[in-house]
Amino acid sequence: MKCSSCYTPSILKLPNSEISLCKKHFCIYFEKKVRKTIRVYRMIDKQDKVGIAISGGKDSMTLLYVLHKIFKLTKVQLHALAIDEGISGYRDPHFIFVRSFCDQLEIPLHVYSFEKEIGMTLDQITQKDKETIPCTYCGVFRRKLLNEKALELGMDKLATGHNLDDEAQSIIMNQFRKNVRAGVILGPVAGVVRDSKFIPRIKPLYFLTEKEVTTFAYVNKILDKFVECPNAERGYRSSIRDMLNNFEARYPGTKHNIVSSFLATVPLIKKSYMKSHIHTCKLCGAATSKDVCQACVLLGKITSL
Ligand code: SF4
Ligand code: ZN
Repeated sequence: MKCSSCYTPSILKLPNSEISLCKKHFCIYFEKKVRKTIRVYRMIDKQDKVGIAISGGKDSMTLLYVLHKIFKLTKVQLHALAIDEGISGYRDPHFIFVRSFCDQLEIPLHVYSFEKEIGMTLDQITQKDKETIPCTYCGVFRRKLLNEKALELGMDKLATGHNLDDEAQSIIMNQFRKNVRAGVILGPVAGVVRDSKFIPRIKPLYFLTEKEVTTFAYVNKILDKFVECPNAERGYRSSIRDMLNNFEARYPGTKHNIVSSFLATVPLIKKSYMKSHIHTCKLCGAATSKDVCQACVLLGKITSL
């Protein structure tokens, strides 16, 4: 197939479109889409300090690379924040790559570990609680640490590498679990209430599919060798991902449609929860919608086992 812009060989046909692009025009398209998302959703102000949550995977490294490209000559400051959950054989190779990538781009890197901050590695937690899916602990503790540390570092925003596939999966997961309220943390700019204890979260890759992000990472040599978390297959998300990939293959456009429908209803979801009060967790002081935050509930559970 030929590039729709310059008629050289194309590398990718864009989703839900007849347009195919070569490497050069695909990268231009990709960066334009990120810039547009940032502009339309007013994600980043002129003098913002932006924390970028990185894991070493293709999404977060692509995000780091593109934001650096867009903002390197501006007053916006970028910092990378990484969480070491303590999953043996998984994070270590990633972190070697993360360090050298941040050095190369001259972006300060801040690393925090579950072991030091929570008192246990995820492997130790999984050993203690064999019933609960590791992702439950991992997601809650990682979100808590990223929020706390980004605030401590004085960041104005926290950017994450979520793409359109991730978002479609989360929307369906919330539906299947009858957890509509969780929708307030979805959307290109997450959260419902501005509070000094919550850092605003932004998702500049929101409208790009997993395939597009992977292609961009690959052609720009950002992709570290892919190592999947050993716990990934145990997660609920992985079943939803397989289901949506099957649907997308049979009915192209499914993922885009899920996200577009969600975006049409999200103002209603946010409005209905806008009135709910933000409490302070009785145990740790973090902002929460209940008396005790989810991280403290899980911490209590694991220390009592
Ligand atoms: Fe954590 Fe689960 Fe992701 Fe592994 S797959 S990094 S355990 S959330
Ligand atoms: Zn708490």
